Amino acid sequence: MKKQYAFLVDTERCIGCFTCAMACRNYYHQVEGVVWRQVHPLSEEIYPHRERAFLSLSCNHCENPACLNVCPVEAYTKREEDGVVVHHQEKCIGCGNCIRSCPYGAPKYNPVEKRAEKCSLCHERLDAGLDPACVQACPTDALQLVDLAEFERTNEVQYPAGYPRMEGLNPSTRFVLPKTPKMVRR
Ligand code: SF4
Ligand code: SF4
Repeated sequence: MKKQYAFLVDTERCIGCFTCAMACRNYYHQVEGVVWRQVHPLSEEIYPHRERAFLSLSCNHCENPACLNVCPVEAYTKREEDGVVVHHQEKCIGCGNCIRSCPYGAPKYNPVEKRAEKCSLCHERLDAGLDPACVQACPTDALQLVDLAEFERTNEVQYPAGYPRMEGLNPSTRFVLPKTPKMVRR
């Protein structure tokens, strides 16, 4: 397998502090209402914990990206060297095809620029030998950057409950699920 960078989201470690989402915002200064990384509390019906669990989500840097395949002006590229799916906003014409096609809601419409935008995995930071801003900021190592070609853990899943199963896209993000149940609600 070729090198494929991926986010590893460890719900056992995540404390729901939103630092990852804030770090993304501090770094890229998205306009109001545009969010590239979001932290979602898991439904207690799926994970019946008294202690809450969270998923920190952004673009999955898919093997076969729907966004790239539907863009009429080649504003998306998938990097040969590490599989990162980069959006080139200067090429974007704001047609919205990618926004409508991504089942994970990763590309967002910027009403000021009148163009799409999304997480491009801080590729400039990767090229400088740095972690993505969100990964660097996480205080509990709940969010990590891994290379799927070398990834050896066995307790991770690709599709947690409620996450769209899109085998054609093959999203790269992996999840460590919370152990259920930690405490039984009475
Ligand atoms: S999650 Fe959506 S935006 Fe990201 S690479 Fe996959 S299809 Fe494209
Ligand atoms: S910074 Fe880490 S612990 Fe905090 S919400 Fe994000 S992933 Fe969870």
